[in-house]
Amino acid sequence: MSVLSTTLSRVKPSPTIAMTTKAQELKAAGRDVIGLSAGEPDFDTPQNIKDAAIAAITAGKTKYTAVDGIPELKQAICDKFRRENGLSYEPAQVTVGTGGKQVLYNAFMATLNAGDEVIIPAPYWVSYPDMVLLGGGTPVIVECSLENQFKLTAEQLQAAITPKTKWFLFNSPSNPSGAGYSWDELKALTDVLMRHPHVWVMTDDMYEHLVFDDFKFCTPAQVEPGLYDRTLTVNGVSKAYAMTGWRIGYAAGPEELIKGMRKVQSQSTSNPCSISQWAAVEALNGPQGYIEDNKALFQRRRDLVVGMLNDAKGVNCPTPEGAFYVYPDISACIGKTSAAGTLIDTDEAFATALLEETGVAVVFGSAFGLSPNFRISYATSDEALAKACTRIQQFCEGLR
Ligand code: PLP
Repeated sequence: MSVLSTTLSRVKPSPTIAMTTKAQELKAAGRDVIGLSAGEPDFDTPQNIKDAAIAAITAGKTKYTAVDGIPELKQAICDKFRRENGLSYEPAQVTVGTGGKQVLYNAFMATLNAGDEVIIPAPYWVSYPDMVLLGGGTPVIVECSLENQFKLTAEQLQAAITPKTKWFLFNSPSNPSGAGYSWDELKALTDVLMRHPHVWVMTDDMYEHLVFDDFKFCTPAQVEPGLYDRTLTVNGVSKAYAMTGWRIGYAAGPEELIKGMRKVQSQSTSNPCSISQWAAVEALNGPQGYIEDNKALFQRRRDLVVGMLNDAKGVNCPTPEGAFYVYPDISACIGKTSAAGTLIDTDEAFATALLEETGVAVVFGSAFGLSPNFRISYATSDEALAKACTRIQQFCEGLR
């Protein structure tokens, strides 16, 4: 009999990490590989943030801290929510964890009972369903259509809610589609939620600052203040400040929930890295100018990638409002055979053949719960993106 639990057997390892590992292996073997599978900005953490971390080390801020964050960081987070989202939270309503990932995980562990349902629109970030499973809950996946730019409709949300629904998980702009909900689109969803007082809202706002054109980011408790008492607003410094390795994420919500999450964290990791917390204080309180610079850079790359992918035969790529991903539809490629003779019967076969035959690493759509698609992370140089898209065009041209 296996040492591993039955709960664990329902969970799969992260497919994005698996694809990145495969690309690294090919690279190590001397192949010319362009990796478009990793979900992190390609530039360095700003110097003022690094300096704050160095100052923290020098000042000896290297000991255990309060389990879910130093008071200075909690205050900076309250100030951020007030300044950027019009949301009023007290420090006692704030929790800080080792990345947004741990914060989301704590929330599920603290709240789910067996059989509780969590509504997750697809395509979704790969970790959501597995976190729900680890917490003993049941993911309820609702597929969003290409026609609706991968966004959930009010009708779909209404139809998915049952007496067992515990959470509605919302992510805008989305990983993997980049889809961002406008105020009116989100209001249509919050109107539904107002009719179901037993449903809580977990909103993952990680890509808040990566939005393009004249898109205006908004978050559920801001759009519908009536949801404030049952909303957990999750965010972090990883994507906005190029701080993925520092591992700081945070959330704000009702105090009882925050206390429960703290209890989970107190019996697992305790506080997030003390030095990273001081760096995050500087990220949130310091100059914000680079956010605008990065947006301009990412928007240019998005336009390059969307344009080139739509010129590839059989690829249909909507223009996303934010994040640094595109999620093209490849229905027209399925059932064909690649130049090297591989049958492209699924999006996984497409991504595998693309990597093996052209050296371009993307992540297949089935990993995100909506097929047939693939995800490109365009957080890499224009040159690499143009080269990769040219190879994708050639690969698609070769499909018979
Ligand atoms: N949420 C989404 C949608 C993400 O894409 C990611 C990272 O890829 C996270 C949360 C977690 O980010 P972190 O743990 O680095 O804060």
